[in-house]
Amino acid sequence: MKILIKDVLLNQSETDILIKDNIFYRIGKSEEPVEADLIINGKDKAILPPFYNLHCHAGMNILRGYVEDLPLFEWLQRIWKREAELTAEDIYNGTRLAILEMIKSGTVFFADMYWFHHSILKAVEEMGIRANIGVCLMDNLGQETLDKNFAFLNEYAHYGNPLITFAPAPHAIYTCSGVLYKRAFECAERNSMFMQTHLSETVSEVEDCKKQHSNKTPVEYLRDLGVLSERTIAAHCVHFNVNDAEIFAECKSVAVHNPCSNMKLSSGIFNMPLMKEKHCKIALGTDGCSSNNNLSMTEEMKFACLLAKVGFQSADALKAEEVFEIATKAGAEYYGIKAGEIKEGMFADCILVDLNNEKMQPNGNVIYNMVYSADSSCIDTLICNGKVLMEHHKVRNEEEIIERAKYYAKH
Ligand SMILES: [Zn+2]
Repeated sequence: MKILIKDVLLNQSETDILIKDNIFYRIGKSEEPVEADLIINGKDKAILPPFYNLHCHAGMNILRGYVEDLPLFEWLQRIWKREAELTAEDIYNGTRLAILEMIKSGTVFFADMYWFHHSILKAVEEMGIRANIGVCLMDNLGQETLDKNFAFLNEYAHYGNPLITFAPAPHAIYTCSGVLYKRAFECAERNSMFMQTHLSETVSEVEDCKKQHSNKTPVEYLRDLGVLSERTIAAHCVHFNVNDAEIFAECKSVAVHNPCSNMKLSSGIFNMPLMKEKHCKIALGTDGCSSNNNLSMTEEMKFACLLAKVGFQSADALKAEEVFEIATKAGAEYYGIKAGEIKEGMFADCILVDLNNEKMQPNGNVIYNMVYSADSSCIDTLICNGKVLMEHHKVRNEEEIIERAKYYAKH
């Protein structure tokens, strides 16, 4: 399969891009006529890398707007009560709604952490996006369920679809014992997987950890358990001190910033200047739809910049080019996906942005516009691994996905 994108703007100059199978095969105008199975008119469009959302609970899209305006622990109690009633069908339909929203807002990959992994796998596979499906682990699931979850992870470690990987995902230090963390990390190491978790999200998590574990911060506690490495992908990482940031940099673990969720649940401000200074691996994620309430990475980029600027009273606490790289190339790289840049030989993941959209003009700097001005309506086309998943804002089956999500949200 060959796709030719003609007359598209790349780095502010017009060019042609040939995608062969799943890679960017040639970038540049050709003297000879080029044959292709599909020709996309790129006139008045910019080609950019798409987004890699490194922390999400996609199934929670079915709970959008269910409970609002509470602090984290009260909010969690209400959400957990409702989640206990959710079925495999609810999660399947919630995840499809989430993936539809992600495709429409320019995302080709998400790291997910939730229940009913078979439902999530089915939804991801049908819709053709990339995902790291984190199997959520907590002690209160009971030994039998935990054993089943680990058996699933071992069985699916080398799953046939190259777009999909799995991860053990111990929920957090306040829901998982040290024994469970170690078991999860060993599973990740044995199967060459990543391990996802939530970490240092609130002040009370840090204080409780210090009380329970000889004055250790959550980062020190996990380091001493031996579960921090480049396989460890930790969401939030809000309340890191200097030593925590140094440990993360040394272990090469990934800190996923979730600015909307941290603001909405009043969890605190991610220490962007500290994390940058210590050369930590920083990625970006939306978190689940109940704490955001959407999955737009363009919004997440803008909030990340604004939060850093206001939080640290510094205009360059996080710049547009930096956050764009964090949301695209960096996320792909941390997950070992050879994508996130429009370059020959890379996997063909990209978005085409409509430069005739009023939010994209004047187009002095497309990255400034994407970070501070754009929303999903500016994204016209999305290609994931050489397949067009959205063209002219249309995604296959979108009406049916929305109808079914409406039905399942009520039942
Ligand atoms: Zn989360």
